[in-house]
Amino acid sequence: MNMAISDANPTHQPTLRSGSARAMRPRGIYDLSLTELETRVSDRGYPAYRARQIWRWAYRQLVSNYSEMANIPASLRGELATEVPIALLETVRTVATDDGETIKTLYRTGDGQVLETVLMLYPNRATVCVSCQVGCAVGCAFCATGLLGLARNLGAGEMVAQVVGAAREARQRGRDLNNIVMMGMGEPLQNYAETMKFINIVHDPGGLDIGARRITVSTSGIVPKIDAIAEEPLQLNLAVSLHAPGDELRSQLVPINRRYPIATLMAAVDRYIAKTGRRVSFEYALMRGINDSEQTAFDLADLLRGRLCHVNIIPLNPVELLPYERPDLAGIESFAGILRAGGIPTSVRYSRGLEIDAACGQLRAKELAPSAASRTRS
Ligand code: SAH
Ligand code: SF4
Repeated sequence: MNMAISDANPTHQPTLRSGSARAMRPRGIYDLSLTELETRVSDRGYPAYRARQIWRWAYRQLVSNYSEMANIPASLRGELATEVPIALLETVRTVATDDGETIKTLYRTGDGQVLETVLMLYPNRATVCVSCQVGCAVGCAFCATGLLGLARNLGAGEMVAQVVGAAREARQRGRDLNNIVMMGMGEPLQNYAETMKFINIVHDPGGLDIGARRITVSTSGIVPKIDAIAEEPLQLNLAVSLHAPGDELRSQLVPINRRYPIATLMAAVDRYIAKTGRRVSFEYALMRGINDSEQTAFDLADLLRGRLCHVNIIPLNPVELLPYERPDLAGIESFAGILRAGGIPTSVRYSRGLEIDAACGQLRAKELAPSAASRTRS
């Protein structure tokens, strides 16, 4: 494998601040909506159009420093640089696959947390996989992010910064970023307000202008928030991480299932579909000997039949220290075949970047425990 690795600042020490967890979260310009930036600029006695100019520098030119905003008065630049800095995340390391089409970035936040973002370049689109939390409280049995519990929620600006970083990486390769999936670290519906704020900022037509239909929120099944997202004005894509058709197995794999069992989850999905008219994706991480039997496929088809939905099979990305394995190709295709024959639209997502630990939380897990994670994946 030929990994391009750059270590920006290996000796960086975390800057800890006092106060509550919320107060500790570093904030910057990426946390502001355009309206909030306009208010801030007007409060300082500058015309509101300056905010729109700054917005374009930030999200169209993708500048990384106020000093590059050539047509903005130096006094305003100076004030904003102190109050709402641009740099919220520091790049620790960037790793690319052999073909250069999958680029994973490990970031460090202002308070020393580590998180990761993956950019995937396809022939017809460029997609960024965004993290919304450092760690995750849900603790799914097969997930590297869940292993370490939840450190903290990310702020909207820290999510926007990941997208801007990916847009810069894409631009360096002559590409435009056009898709966002909330499938990095964390459970977006357990960080609802910041996630929605983030989505509104990247959606803004004067800035990054990512269409709502090009943004996918993936959830382990936080039922009240599925109802909340159905009420949002933006027509986002919803992906539900199902992984098992029955409660006994699902509760083992996705512990939140004990709180929101499958019947409750499906009722929420049905309400979502009725309200939005939108197709829901079900994610299914396929694990050998766990949830890949023929009978499980038939049960899954029975559960989903008649719903406006689509199944995305993700052959498991094995995680060091966890016992789960991916089935072989024949097993994957036969599982998908049963679903299709049962009338369920199904695709198999052969994941990108296995050799760079591109699955949820894997690079971070390695960063935090380097000695425990050196197994080569097949
Ligand atoms: N917390 C959200 C979104 C982030 S995880 C959720 O769970 O939906 C994004 C997707 O990756 C989820 O479907 C999740 O179950 C899946 N996933 C996590 N670890 C994985 C692994 N090791 N291999 C394959 N898929 C994995
Ligand atoms: Fe959290 Fe999603 Fe990982 Fe489950 S799969 S632990 S919900 S990030």
